[in-house]
Amino acid sequence: MGEGLEQLKQRLPLLDYLRQQNWTARPVGRAGEFVGLCPLHAETRPSFYVNARRNLFYCHGCGQGGDLIRFVELSQHLSFRQSLTYLEQLSAEADPAAVLRQASAFYQQQLDRYPEASHYLEQRGVRDPALIQELQIGYAPGGRLRRHLLAQGCSLDLLRHTGLVNPQGHDTLYQRVVFPCCQDGRMVNLYGRSIGTAFAHRFLPGTKGDLFAWESVRHFPSVILVEGMFDLAVLWQAGFRHATCSLGTHLTADQFQQLCDRPRTVYLTFDVDANGSGQQAAQALSHRLRAQGITARRVLLPPGHDPNSFFVQGGDARQFQSLLEAAPL
Ligand SMILES: [Zn+2]
Repeated sequence: MGEGLEQLKQRLPLLDYLRQQNWTARPVGRAGEFVGLCPLHAETRPSFYVNARRNLFYCHGCGQGGDLIRFVELSQHLSFRQSLTYLEQLSAEADPAAVLRQASAFYQQQLDRYPEASHYLEQRGVRDPALIQELQIGYAPGGRLRRHLLAQGCSLDLLRHTGLVNPQGHDTLYQRVVFPCCQDGRMVNLYGRSIGTAFAHRFLPGTKGDLFAWESVRHFPSVILVEGMFDLAVLWQAGFRHATCSLGTHLTADQFQQLCDRPRTVYLTFDVDANGSGQQAAQALSHRLRAQGITARRVLLPPGHDPNSFFVQGGDARQFQSLLEAAPL
């Protein structure tokens, strides 16, 4: 079991499950209460009650009652553990976020098994095991996810639908360090950074989600915005926990809205690359933020640097703090 019983029951409410099983009911009395024919014994007059708020059922005909898992035990004649496995698979089928979570958990398990992955993290200056776990960093070796998830009971259709498996039936993420992307607390995508010769950045289809870890960052009166996950990782490692990441210099409308959800100072810390694209993007974004009443300051890293290379090549927290303080409005 990768998660608690309570989460499973929340993700797959009893009433939803019963309706999927074609149980028909009508509301009764108090809000959230329903009655219909009992699926557990033969009857002609409804005596099976579901309290949607408490996520429980009770039948006045046969006297059975309990939660979703109890219902599955009784209706499918399964043991408690078998019922859990059955429901896990069922909820994964219904819920792409659950499949992404399973994929992310699998990738996290692979990280230590492939020296090339640990070596890459080391090169990018990410060393703290607690941080690696907190950021849920994983590794997609390629060619192993599909088999793993099919064995977990996921359908190939769903794997294709989420984009984890491409139309040819192969793992989409191949030799990439993987970070989960979330929106409103749900996993909505995976970002893979190539450690080989393939194109550097890759997402699955769909949104890239919220600003990274926005729930923990949004409470700070000032935030540091970076464009890459390895920038964020070294900043967090150096103690700058008010750093967030937009995964690219182009913010989605939702990400932009998040930066503007209250008065704050945003330190834009995009790459200082040779063609100037990072700084152009930072400048355009700072204009848009100011128009919304947000204080935007552009952090000027030394030429050719991004926050990651700044730390990897010997920069420390004190030096980075000086850059923040010197950032022009
Ligand atoms: Zn009954």
